Amino acid sequence: MVPPQTTENTDSNGAQQASNESALETARRQLRHAAGHLEIDPNIVRRLRHPTEVHEVTLPVERDDGRVEVFTGYRAQHDSVRGPYKGGLRYHPEVTRDECVGLAMWMTWKCAVMDLPFGGAKGGVAVNPKELSPQEKERLTRRFAQEIRDVIGPMQDIPAPDMGTDPQTMAWLMDAYSMQEGETIPGVVTGKPPVIGGSHGREEAPGRSVAIITQAVCEYYGRSLGDTTVAVQGYGSVGASAARLLDDRGANIVAISDVNGAMYDPSGIDTHSVPSHDEEPEAVTVYADETISNEELLTLDVDVLVPAALGNVLTEANANAVRADIVVEGANGPTTSTADSILDEREIPVVPDILANAGGVTVSYFEWLQDINRQSWALERVNEELELEMEAAWTAVRDEFESRTVSWRDAAYIVALSRIAEAHNARGLWP
Ligand code: GLU
Repeated sequence: MVPPQTTENTDSNGAQQASNESALETARRQLRHAAGHLEIDPNIVRRLRHPTEVHEVTLPVERDDGRVEVFTGYRAQHDSVRGPYKGGLRYHPEVTRDECVGLAMWMTWKCAVMDLPFGGAKGGVAVNPKELSPQEKERLTRRFAQEIRDVIGPMQDIPAPDMGTDPQTMAWLMDAYSMQEGETIPGVVTGKPPVIGGSHGREEAPGRSVAIITQAVCEYYGRSLGDTTVAVQGYGSVGASAARLLDDRGANIVAISDVNGAMYDPSGIDTHSVPSHDEEPEAVTVYADETISNEELLTLDVDVLVPAALGNVLTEANANAVRADIVVEGANGPTTSTADSILDEREIPVVPDILANAGGVTVSYFEWLQDINRQSWALERVNEELELEMEAAWTAVRDEFESRTVSWRDAAYIVALSRIAEAHNARGLWP
């Protein structure tokens, strides 16, 4: 099985299912499981199983050869009790309504675990972005912006990059929206290029949070990063940033991979000398002396495994073969529910996506703050504030993990759900 490379692959789950469980099924199962640990009003849990709204649009786009092709786009808005909807837009052939809903639910929990004043959304277009020319991608994006214009906005719903989309996509979206509104509105999307109101450090942020959380969890289990071996699946913006930052912090990165396979070097890879997907697509195996498959990477005998490519890669078929001592989820939803139970029984801690890769949406929040306040923060400030936010979220999750003897995933869900339930209780049901 080979994972597709992604532009921002924090969200690389679900789209290409390695098992049959959909993102929505996984998300609902996780919600039910975590709610079982809390005295939370069942009416609120029932509400949270469903999105508030799912917008489906058709997008006629002129191909370069003059043919018009019609694509389907979605924007699923799950819950906004804590603030405007927030979450990425992905371009991938297997984007579906249900997948967007499941991913939107994860965004709701992710924003709550980070204590950001946002709810959760996710959207996308069922299209293979590799088959679009830049001009076609621009036309598709502008048309999508137009079709969802009424339901997005800086105080309503703020898209961001995701699988198959990037800062340029966000620039087109922001431009299309702004042209129609008659004024420049940078806060309508995050993950833009800094020159038009994007935040410094945003592209690297999901990988940075993976590195911060990996270091925290290693220290929690009494390991120093200097004595830690790490395998990272995926060398896109999440995997490459995480691998390089962990490398800089002293960890020994022994395997990295892309869609074509993995580079393996037990003596340690110089991660900066291997181009990320953004720098040179699909370069990992080209630069490798020794290669292994993506499947072999997942079962390497390492201290930490970081699946940062796509969803549902740890399944009932391989969870028993995982030999890592700790799993840190860089992608969204890389572990199926069954694999999660197997790893739990095997006492392999799995640090969940909604905490580990939450640096992306956290710096999106910083970007949104900068946009609506017409400010620009220096990179140092962004990174310092991100460290603080990750530290606070880590502490909250660790406290639940210790006091309730639950899994790391349940602990993160408990933090998130408690905050969301409290907000629902305070606001009440209308009308
Ligand atoms: N797509 C990213 C995620 O899943 C970022 C979302 C955002 O920044 O709004 O966390």
